[in-house]
Amino acid sequence: MADSKMSFARSAPANDWLVICDFDGTIAHVDVTDGVLSRFALPQWEAIEADWKAGQIGSRECMARQVDLVRAPREALDAYLDTVEIDPDFPAFVADCRARGLEVVVISDGIDYSIKRILQRHGVEDLPLASNRLEFLGGDRYRLEFPEANAKCSAGSGTCKCRVSSRRASGRSRLLIGDGSSDFCLAAEADLVFAKDKLLTRCIEQRLPHRACPDFASALRLLPQLDRLSSRGSDRVARPNPHHSPVISLETLVNG
Ligand SMILES: [Mg+2]
Ligand SMILES: [Zn+2]
Repeated sequence: MADSKMSFARSAPANDWLVICDFDGTIAHVDVTDGVLSRFALPQWEAIEADWKAGQIGSRECMARQVDLVRAPREALDAYLDTVEIDPDFPAFVADCRARGLEVVVISDGIDYSIKRILQRHGVEDLPLASNRLEFLGGDRYRLEFPEANAKCSAGSGTCKCRVSSRRASGRSRLLIGDGSSDFCLAAEADLVFAKDKLLTRCIEQRLPHRACPDFASALRLLPQLDRLSSRGSDRVARPNPHHSPVISLETLVNG
């Protein structure tokens, strides 16, 4: 028993990783939530954004109040979402991960409806997704709900990426691919980060294990070196998994 555990620890297989992708600014080139607000929200949304940028409110409170200000008929919202492009190499990245036996999930502090519609339009389906949930109130009104919030999250995020990814990883190492502040709480815990923009600065400042990764073409090139790149790799098998029976609350994208 002890021997078999030790031999497993010496040669952790490559598929011992969960690949966690941010959406806004990472899979999608733009921040889709900002795109929705700038087109459809009453002008007060910008004062709320300023409070968030100043650190006075968390992103959960920020987005809940901002989505209350949206006035968009469903067709207008869809028409905007149908203009949003994704990183052209993301579908190939997902396919490559699957070929290597790596599970890819999308964990986002954005809006589930936007993410599903955009990914489906680009032919990326069946990806587990955890994010904030848009509720249609009728007419041109919406409400944002937070099924993955965590009151203890230091970031005050709508979707606490560190907690939901820990549950999903179920003992696997975590690779985070992201760009911004919604990724900070997870970056502090992840075994490895592929980072750009604000997240790259954060990883450098906090000395987190990371590689600069400006796009999914770069991520594709880094993937074969996954186990060698992780400076936490040697101790990751020894870290306790606090979740004995992982609750899989990520829903899976389905076509249509
Ligand atoms: Mg982002
Ligand atoms: Zn968190």
